[in-house]
Order: sequence, then C-alpha cells, then structure tokens
Amino acid sequence: MESNYGSFLTIWNFLLWAISGIMVLTGIINLFRYYTRLARRKTYKDKHDFIRDNESKAIFYTVIYFGVAVTLVVNTLQTETVVLSVVWFFLRLFISVGVGTLILYIGYLMLKYSYPARLHKKLQKLRYTPRINPKTGNYMKLLSEEEEDVHLDEGMQAEENVFSVDYDVWVDELTGDVHIEKYPGHLQAYQCNTCGFQTMRQIKEEILLAPTENTDGEIERFYECGYCGARRHKVLKVARLSQDLDNYKLPDELHFKEEDRVRSVTVEIYIGKNQKKIYDFPNTEQASRFLKEFELDNS
Ligand SMILES: [Zn+2]
Repeated sequence: MESNYGSFLTIWNFLLWAISGIMVLTGIINLFRYYTRLARRKTYKDKHDFIRDNESKAIFYTVIYFGVAVTLVVNTLQTETVVLSVVWFFLRLFISVGVGTLILYIGYLMLKYSYPARLHKKLQKLRYTPRINPKTGNYMKLLSEEEEDVHLDEGMQAEENVFSVDYDVWVDELTGDVHIEKYPGHLQAYQCNTCGFQTMRQIKEEILLAPTENTDGEIERFYECGYCGARRHKVLKVARLSQDLDNYKLPDELHFKEEDRVRSVTVEIYIGKNQKKIYDFPNTEQASRFLKEFELDNS
C-alpha cells in the first residue's frame, strides 16, 4: 500500500509537470501568435482595430494557461510530506485550487479595472499618431471637427451627429490628398436598411406590459433613421424589476467657465457600482450634445 501510494505520487508529479509545461508553452505560443498577427498589421488604423478587438482576449487566455500551470506545479510540491499521508495530498490539492483561483481572480480584476485605462491610452496614441501619405511621404494633418465636414458626405455627417460613428479626416496639406478613417462613436445607432448609414436611432418606446418583480414585461421600440427618415419598430422583452435600480438624471444645460478656451472634455459615466465609461471630446459643445443624445438613449 505504502509503495503503491509512493509510485502513484511519482507518476502524478511527472504528469503534472509535463502538463504544466504544455500549459506554459501554450500560453507563450498564444501571446506569440497575437504579436505576430499584430505585426502583420501595417497601418496605425489596422493596428488600432486589431488591438482593440483582440488584446484583452489574448491576455486573458494567457493568464488562464499560466494560472493552470501554477496550480499543477503547486500539486507537486512538498512530496516528502505528502507521501506520509493521503490527507496531505488532498490538503495540497485544496490549497493549489485556492492559489489557481486567486491568480485567475487577480487577472480578471486587472483586466476589468486597471487594464481598460491603459488600453484606452494605447489606442488613443495609435489613433492620433500623425499619418504619413503613402504616395508622397508627407506628414498629414488631422482636421478638427469643424474643418472635416467638407470632406464627409451627408450620411457620414449624420452618423457623426448622432455619435454612432466618428470619422477622422487626415489631409496632406501639400497635395490635398485626403484619408478618412472610421471609428465607432460613443453612442450606439443601428445600420439603416434603407440608406446603409449607421444612423438608425430609437425615437420612442412604449410599454406594452409593465414588468413587475415577478414577471417580465414587454416594450415596443420605434426607430427612425436620422439621415433618410426610414422607420422601424420591434417588440422586446424587459427583464423583471430588481431592487437596486437607481436612475440618474442628467442636468438640462451644461455650461463651463471659459468654454472657448477648453481644449478637451472628458466625460466619465459610472454605471451601477463599479463600471465606468470614459468619453473624450474636443470641446464643450460636442460634450453637451453627446450628453443630450445620451439622455435620449436612456429615456
Ligand atoms: Zn437611412
């Protein structure tokens, strides 16, 4: 019996080291794949979009692989004690699961709370790094919101006005070449089936069946395209009421001291207890309009 348990532990240790090695290797390959795919993106815009869509996933999976690897390695430690009694074996198993959970939990917290600000900064940097005209090699200039409108067609301007899409217009001042980049805006609007622009916004909501604490409700939403005027509507289920719904109402008019000297406005919106969204605007007028649209969205 004693020797059976001993040889079981030998195999156990070997197996766990092997699997944890595979886990570490998979984690490294995973990161490597992410960075090689990123390196293949040539323009700042492509890199921006790739990082935005893939980086947090790549980091999260790597944390999982490494967390599992550590958990397995912990299960091979202190074998000279564990060999004395099976109780130690299960105690070690219990501790290792605790360690693994802690690693995953810390990784999750970092990705949720400290990582988004870093990601935001990185993406901003890629978005605003001066573009180089591939044809001439000249640096291009990013036009301000007021200057860029002449380069955007009406549909694009309509999309910008409802904050569903944000267009950056870069101009080569020597040749007049224009380069337009499309970014998702701060508010959601759907693509209109009729004109194809992302300008379909909710204009009205009717409660067909009010939700209670025990039953779901039903609402009908009406949408209208801000560009071509097409309309749609659909019926949706509403989740039953929860106790801690706190509704915040935004002030009607927002004004700041010395408004025209403002270079940038950051709006932070806290949703629930610990979720935060950050929006940047070039001036107070845009920020105010955003808040109005935001209020429409939440009414
Ligand atoms: Zn339309």
